Amino acid sequence: MTYENVKIHPAVDGGVRPGNPDFKGGTLSCKCATDKVEVQVGAQTAHNHVCGCTRCWKPDGAVFSQVAVVGRDAVQVTRNAHKLKVVDDTATIRRHACTGCGVHMYGRIENKDHAFYGLDFVHTELSPEQGWSEPQFAAFVSSVIESGVDPSRMAGIRGRLKELGLEPYDCLSPPLMDAISTHTAKRSGALPA
Ligand SMILES: [Zn+2]
Ligand SMILES: [Zn+2]
Repeated sequence: MTYENVKIHPAVDGGVRPGNPDFKGGTLSCKCATDKVEVQVGAQTAHNHVCGCTRCWKPDGAVFSQVAVVGRDAVQVTRNAHKLKVVDDTATIRRHACTGCGVHMYGRIENKDHAFYGLDFVHTELSPEQGWSEPQFAAFVSSVIESGVDPSRMAGIRGRLKELGLEPYDCLSPPLMDAISTHTAKRSGALPA
């Protein structure tokens, strides 16, 4: 049985293309016709994945977003920064969206105690360059139901993700969940800092 008619995200629906380990970054542009916001990302990304949560930006019609992390020092707004606004000031990840087209240009964690502090979240599909790290897993898969996907479609969605080599998880992947718990344990003293 094949699930190839199940759509996940345009970047993976035709199969996952491997990234280039020598890739050095590129420029993300928003979807405005003029006066685009541009964000320069000066490094290869890591932990790229498709995400089913309701907060990540998704292209029109996509069930999942595609999102990766990169060191915040590598991220710089190079054009039309005045168009950016934080979507939700109370969220852990402060997603900076273009007020013209709604695209999220980067998400940043300002809480220095957070396990992922120092990493920004970016959607590399906004860049014309090829070679960004490829998506490796699917996060928050069950959460797509919260954006209106009928639960009866979940078997097909999980089947397609597995077919694409994107192991479906209902939170983050085990290495990322382990990183969060290790951070918490070091802060509480359960593990040596
Ligand atoms: Zn825009
Ligand atoms: Zn998400």
